[in-house]
Amino acid sequence: MKLNSPENGANQCLGLITISEVRDFLMDSLNLPNPLDSPEQRGQLRRWLKKWQRLFTFHVEVGDGTQEESTISAEHLERFAPYLRTALRRIWHEADARQRDWYLYRLRDKHHHMIVRAENPYLLSITATDTVKRLREFERTSCSRGDDPSQRERFFESMAGADLFEDVPRVSPFEAAVYWLQANQKLMVFCEGPECAAPYFFRAEKGQTYCSNECANVARKAAKLKWWNENRKAKSRIGEAANGTR
Ligand SMILES: [Zn+2]
Repeated sequence: MKLNSPENGANQCLGLITISEVRDFLMDSLNLPNPLDSPEQRGQLRRWLKKWQRLFTFHVEVGDGTQEESTISAEHLERFAPYLRTALRRIWHEADARQRDWYLYRLRDKHHHMIVRAENPYLLSITATDTVKRLREFERTSCSRGDDPSQRERFFESMAGADLFEDVPRVSPFEAAVYWLQANQKLMVFCEGPECAAPYFFRAEKGQTYCSNECANVARKAAKLKWWNENRKAKSRIGEAANGTR
């Protein structure tokens, strides 16, 4: 198996997370409610955080130059989770392979941005309350050292993280999970069961369209009823009219 294969090692993705964990994580993320406003919905988000916060790792430098692993704060993840849910749903429903690949890349990139910002808190953020003040400081620094226009441009770009965002991210459990999904898109199915509570699932066999026998049975009954309403009722009306019973 190739070193960078999504399934590097027995049942492991990039050596960091098991495939069953990846599946479990993606299902929990996809089936998060939309919106996440009511107390019950917030409870589901809290359970998601408790279970999956450990996947969002980054490295921080400690005093002596060595690095320690840390996890993204719950506050940040509360904002990331709805984005993740919506991005995954978009990927699930997109029929065009090129567009799906783009959405998958964008999701990995969004995560990469979150990690880079956690590891480099000095980077300029457009939404921070001190953004204007910091831009003025950069301008003063650049002027005082006599930067030419291209040096000034480079300085501003580096403070906004341009070089860091260009790098390929370090492998992390989340990155491994989405990389695995990108390589296994053929397994993504949306359950056709009319009352399905968790319709996003991975198919276990080719051609599977329902997540469970329960959903298949409900759909079969609904289809029968629909057929009866459209055909039998019409026929019985014709029969009644022919017999002059109406
Ligand atoms: Zn179902």
